[in-house]
Amino acid sequence: MALVTKMSDIERETIKIGKQQINHFSHRHPLEAAEVHDGDDKLGACAGCEHEIVGPAYVCTKGTCSFVLHDLCSDLPRHHRHRCHPGHPLSLLPSPPYSDCEFTCDACGESGHGFTYHCATCKFDLHVECAALPETVKRSDHHHDFVLMTNLDGGDLVCCGCDDDRVAKGGWMYCCLDCKLGLHLACAETC
Ligand SMILES: [Zn+2]
Ligand SMILES: [Zn+2]
Ligand SMILES: [Zn+2]
Ligand SMILES: [Zn+2]
Ligand SMILES: [Zn+2]
Ligand SMILES: [Zn+2]
Repeated sequence: MALVTKMSDIERETIKIGKQQINHFSHRHPLEAAEVHDGDDKLGACAGCEHEIVGPAYVCTKGTCSFVLHDLCSDLPRHHRHRCHPGHPLSLLPSPPYSDCEFTCDACGESGHGFTYHCATCKFDLHVECAALPETVKRSDHHHDFVLMTNLDGGDLVCCGCDDDRVAKGGWMYCCLDCKLGLHLACAETC
């Protein structure tokens, strides 16, 4: 197959697994299943979540194109209803729908340039990984679950992960409602 020959011409470290090709809504060229190894610097970061890729992925079949997606990021649902944005369904967009090609994630407050779960009515955006945050987390030093919620009143909750009470109003955090304890998204990851 011509496409396969082209891939090997540019000596990617990427090892193709079979000939499994997909057409993904986010990209104009067909993508091919591959295993990406460390040091494969011809490839960009994942176009979905913007993180580096090591492991199973879909790479563009065009040798001149550095487009690549994590296996998991290639298979995200196109529509998502989130408990923290109950009014409208969110649509998965291949890039931010704004003129500066950037969005600000309404969960973590960081910017994003890859895929976004977007509500056009509210101009609401989520990183794909923030959209996939678990609804509850546990801490080994606390006997209640912490529940994911929107910080509506601008934060009189102190984070029990770092003792800093600043959570942007409207941003997301985990809370133990029984004890009125907060936990930053980032602090929940490390416990
Ligand atoms: Zn990804
Ligand atoms: Zn491409
Ligand atoms: Zn985010
Ligand atoms: Zn909305
Ligand atoms: Zn914290
Ligand atoms: Zn508690």
